[in-house]
Amino acid sequence: MDRDFDKYNKIPSNFCILPFLHKAIDSNGDFKPCCVADPHKTSTGEVANINFIKFDDFVKSKEVSNFKQQFKDNQRSELCTNCWNVDDHGGESHRKRVMNFFMNKSWEDGNSDLYKKLESFFNDSATWEDVQTELDRVQEPWDLEIEPGTTCNFKCHFCGPYASSSWQSDQKILYGTSSEEVSKFTKMGLWALDSELWNSEVMFNAKKFHFMGGEPMLIDAHFKFLKKLSERPDAKQVIISYNTNASKLPPPSVLDGVYNKFRWTRVAFSIDAIGDKFHYQRYPGDWSTAESNIKTWVDAIPESIEAKIDPGWSILNLLYIGELFLWADNFKVTNNLTDKQFDFDGHYYFGPYYCPQTLTLEQKELFKKKMTADIEMLRSTLKDPRLLARAEITYSNMVEHMFAADKWSKAIEDKRNFRIKGLDKIRNQSLKDYEPELNEILRIYD
Ligand code: SF4
Repeated sequence: MDRDFDKYNKIPSNFCILPFLHKAIDSNGDFKPCCVADPHKTSTGEVANINFIKFDDFVKSKEVSNFKQQFKDNQRSELCTNCWNVDDHGGESHRKRVMNFFMNKSWEDGNSDLYKKLESFFNDSATWEDVQTELDRVQEPWDLEIEPGTTCNFKCHFCGPYASSSWQSDQKILYGTSSEEVSKFTKMGLWALDSELWNSEVMFNAKKFHFMGGEPMLIDAHFKFLKKLSERPDAKQVIISYNTNASKLPPPSVLDGVYNKFRWTRVAFSIDAIGDKFHYQRYPGDWSTAESNIKTWVDAIPESIEAKIDPGWSILNLLYIGELFLWADNFKVTNNLTDKQFDFDGHYYFGPYYCPQTLTLEQKELFKKKMTADIEMLRSTLKDPRLLARAEITYSNMVEHMFAADKWSKAIEDKRNFRIKGLDKIRNQSLKDYEPELNEILRIYD
């Protein structure tokens, strides 16, 4: 079955399922409908934030119920501008991706009453109003995406103090940001260390959890929550997933005795490059620790692990696509892992410094040349068919993405050069030593 939201005109055109099933909490504690939406507001017009409002009170608030009503009425909520902008320009918005997922029953709860009603709707034996009545029965979001604060031990090149506590010192030196300004991030971003969220009933009743960073493995409170969750009678229905920087493992009692109580544990490793390049891009990450931790994860729960390598493709790593796939292929084959146990994903980096669309045309051509040489090498080298398929898709998507827009400007190039040179100085490194091919194209150092 392959239902496409764009081609199926019986669902109101502005509908999105996420307001009914999902909630996100940002690293600074803001409550959001999903990761791409703007934060919710309170009745007094302030941003709704866990530092000031209890999660359980918030999800039952009038504001959340009004937000849902807008989607029932086929109106466009102002919190979802990101999606409307993409929709209006003919792109594939997050909303449409989610709706396709939902319509094809790919959500984890495919056997629920909601899905049964949806199937009846597709078979013309139920109306859209019937589906909405079923949606009204979903009182609490069961799919949660939580960034548990800004506590992080890395200060990746493309990150900042808004997401990593370790970035704060470099931010002050590099950009002259005042201690007062930087401390605002600290104040808001520490909420997860000791939060009422971990005792929330809504949290405890949810079925699907995605934790990302900061670095979730540094948040002990979430492990305590997982232990409690694993004692729920229906724990085998629960899915846990992470984005982690692979620098730190969960405690052995959780790795060996908690995750196996759930249906699946999905771990996306934010690995953009290997070896010294990993250390440079995700400073001060240590590659051998990351590699060993990934191995420990896949060995610990072989029956219920879904691990994947999840790079953010940017100027910093596109020239080294070949070595990352070679490593993944060797890791998967050596450890005899199935496609479900170990996969390769990845996403575009759109930030201000390292988006490939901000290269000059000449630089893009040089990138393409090196990436083409890499994919040709991978075609004759990779042993695992799934990884080769992923490499092919990554190569074609990234080349297309790079040339799809010309975002180069002297101002952006100057900002990038300033950042690379500045961070190199602070960290006593040099791009020329770690990524000489990239330095040659960007001409940062002679
Ligand atoms: S419309 Fe877009 S921004 Fe709004 S909840 Fe749905 S996916 Fe998120």
